[in-house]
Amino acid sequence: MTLSDYVTYLAQTYQSWELLLSSKEKSFTMSEFLENLRPEERERSVGIETGGEGDFIYDAQSGERLVQVIWSSARRGWVVKQIRNSKPHYYVTKNHLLVSLCGYDAAPCDSQVLADVPLNVPVCKKCYERLEQGAVGTQCAQERLNITEVLLRGITTRFSSSSSGQQFKRGLLVYETRLVGAKLAERNITVTVDGESRKIPIDVLRRDYHAAKIPADADVLVTATRGDGEVYCGQGTVAAVIEAWEKAPLDAFDRQDVKRMTTEFKLPDYHVDSKAELPELKRLYDRCNRYYRYVASQAEEFKRVTKEATSKLVLGLDQSDPMWDVTNGETRFVEELCRQHSELIRTESEKKARAKRWDEQQLELEQRRPLIETRNNLTNFPHKDMLLEVRNIGMIRIRDIKGKIRDGTMCPKTPVRYRSADEWVELCKFLNDWVRWKATVRQLELLTSLQRQHGITDDIPLDIGRSAVSKRISALIARRE
Ligand SMILES: [Zn+2]
Repeated sequence: MTLSDYVTYLAQTYQSWELLLSSKEKSFTMSEFLENLRPEERERSVGIETGGEGDFIYDAQSGERLVQVIWSSARRGWVVKQIRNSKPHYYVTKNHLLVSLCGYDAAPCDSQVLADVPLNVPVCKKCYERLEQGAVGTQCAQERLNITEVLLRGITTRFSSSSSGQQFKRGLLVYETRLVGAKLAERNITVTVDGESRKIPIDVLRRDYHAAKIPADADVLVTATRGDGEVYCGQGTVAAVIEAWEKAPLDAFDRQDVKRMTTEFKLPDYHVDSKAELPELKRLYDRCNRYYRYVASQAEEFKRVTKEATSKLVLGLDQSDPMWDVTNGETRFVEELCRQHSELIRTESEKKARAKRWDEQQLELEQRRPLIETRNNLTNFPHKDMLLEVRNIGMIRIRDIKGKIRDGTMCPKTPVRYRSADEWVELCKFLNDWVRWKATVRQLELLTSLQRQHGITDDIPLDIGRSAVSKRISALIARRE
């Protein structure tokens, strides 16, 4: 049982005044609590603890008490116990328990209390007398209460499947005693028509029901898959199940989802009031999204189409023929787009202009490439303090070159060299070659330390090649072994 399942069960079983849910900081009504649940909390697996200390919802894994169920002291009435064959007593709420007026009995707080019992059911005589005397206070119960209370306070019971013990219906363990409309999308729905049973998703069932393809009075069994089996979650006719589904209100997350989808495709007039209507919006959103992306991928042929224009076109087409995109939706959409929005089709001259602009951009990028590369290589250069000879300027530190490029003294084409005997080479090419082929700092450090171990004092030139340095390193390591 999940936390949201259990609170939903409470909300459907009790009136809102009958209980409050209290966490460490705050008390909530059941609906407030559900609204405030975070997605990860909703699916938390929980159990119910009930006893002298009160009723708690606890985490099924850690055993930690999460929420206390605080029962209203105004709850009172007859409790008909099905398990024990005793006569019904009249109970009032007292210290986390329902205590009988006669003082002989106590019941768990979550027991259903009735204002009346059927006329033919014999009730506890003492309770009846005291109730008749107008003794719906605590005074009368007080005498015997202490004993009962002390006895019951020592007992704490934990149920992990249901708050009312284990029950069976139609051969299945009862998980929910009646239909929960909001949960139907997650449930297994088995419909039996003419002795033949089929599992049908709720949306399909709703469509078939409204199309009169399925009898309204056909039997429906609702179950959930738990662990290795199925559990009972209510039953009814097709009409009753669809009604429950159509009445199920959206929760906070559904509303967020609706807002996101309607805002993105500018569907301000689209209203979703129940869970049953949500899949329709989701389907519309998915279709709009698919066509929007398809048109965007055809940028050579079409100018940019807004999301708003996309949804408008889809809705318009739906109105004239709801089946228009059952097959080849993308092709059909593009055809309609051409027909209704010829201004969005690129003309031959526009295509040419676009191609020309593209070429220009590429060319510009190509021209800027040496500058970008030079800057990047200067940033990544391993020896920032290394001196380089620049033609007509003289010796300059690597780290000062960026400034010289900025002030226009140097450019990627400026000839440079590392040794006075070397050929002049363009700065851009020089840096590219160095970064690609010369020894890394890590290699130089390793070679230095190996040479020291072997008592070698030769200088290592900074411009030694990557493969040359690794040969020397391997040779020294081999010598050490
Ligand atoms: Zn009684």
